[in-house]
Amino acid sequence: MRAHRPTPQLADHLEGLYRAFPFGRSVADDPIAAVRPLARDRRSAEVAALCAAILAVGNTTAIRAAVRRLGDLADQDLGRFVADLPGAAQRRALAGFRHRWIRGDQLAYLAGVLGRYYAEHDSLESAFLAGFDAGGFAGGVDALARTLRGPSGDGRRAPPGYRRLFPSPLDSARSPCKRLTLLVRWLARDRYPDLGLWRRVPTGELRIPLDLHVHWIAYHLGLTARRSRSWAAVEEVTEALRRIDPLDPTRFDFVLCHTGISGDCPKTRDPTVCGPCLVRPDCLMWRGRTVAA
Ligand code: SF4
Repeated sequence: MRAHRPTPQLADHLEGLYRAFPFGRSVADDPIAAVRPLARDRRSAEVAALCAAILAVGNTTAIRAAVRRLGDLADQDLGRFVADLPGAAQRRALAGFRHRWIRGDQLAYLAGVLGRYYAEHDSLESAFLAGFDAGGFAGGVDALARTLRGPSGDGRRAPPGYRRLFPSPLDSARSPCKRLTLLVRWLARDRYPDLGLWRRVPTGELRIPLDLHVHWIAYHLGLTARRSRSWAAVEEVTEALRRIDPLDPTRFDFVLCHTGISGDCPKTRDPTVCGPCLVRPDCLMWRGRTVAA
């Protein structure tokens, strides 16, 4: 367990990594690039962000292509698509869509759920706050997950696998609930590259969206000793980052994630790539070693 404590220098090294990070290169590669241009229209941005968070599985090229394809099928206006189109038209438009295991019939059902929700509410922030105010961040994700699971506006049954798209930390401690945690970071955090459209969720309360890249590097920097991704690991990594930046612990998420996605981190002890890595002294792959060794 001791080996998994962060080094005393990690805060400085992470700050260095954050300051030197080529955000321009990586934002263009991230699904948020498809959402940022919609930020002036909160509903369109929310719907696009939710779809992008759902589709954020696999490599970034395939994710960007899937998000683009979905935008094309919705005539570049997902806000109008969910609010104004009848269910049959939504189902027809998305019938052939597929990205990995996520299917068009599931997204058409989601469109029906959102259409029903937006008929009575301005923003999904209200759904999150309904749980957050009483139960903190996990309560907020739970309330948001329950809202998104349905039912849809026309009383249809949810298609197979639909409800599993929205796990809740209160139902399944084994899930890191990455989709909704990422969605809330995008919408609530107000510093680049995030959108800051939700104003009532304090940045210091956000939790880390623990994808495979972030988990790998968090484990190797000693931010968690947990080998598998779970809600407990989310809390542990967030708490460790909160000790470095209490007001904005998830600001390191983008940098850790894209250090992995970009290939800046080979996830193995490679002297050529690891040599210039600013967190090499803190990385379990290298502690007690020099590059020459
Ligand atoms: S030292 Fe190498 S393996 Fe460790 S985080 Fe840096 S690039 Fe990744």
